[in-house]
Amino acid sequence: MKITGRVETEVVTDVKCDICRLSTRVDVGGLQFATLNAKWGFGTKHDGERYEFHLCEGCFFGTIAYFRQDGEYMMYWMKATKPLPLMILA
Ligand SMILES: [Zn+2]
Repeated sequence: MKITGRVETEVVTDVKCDICRLSTRVDVGGLQFATLNAKWGFGTKHDGERYEFHLCEGCFFGTIAYFRQDGEYMMYWMKATKPLPLMILA
């Protein structure tokens, strides 16, 4: 026996970009966005903190381009803050 009734549910109707604040809805319908997640755990300075950012297509690729431009600085920072194992070849 099926019993029917009305159930009110909450759905995501839009996702706005966390950088430019524009909707991520595309002309053909639907939402298109990138999600950046971080969940910091035990042993980190931000233990227990969680982050989630949504980026539109333009801001996502702008961010990627920024990372690529600044790649040298990022490598320097990674080496300075987290020593990489040395490979010594004799
Ligand atoms: Zn954006």
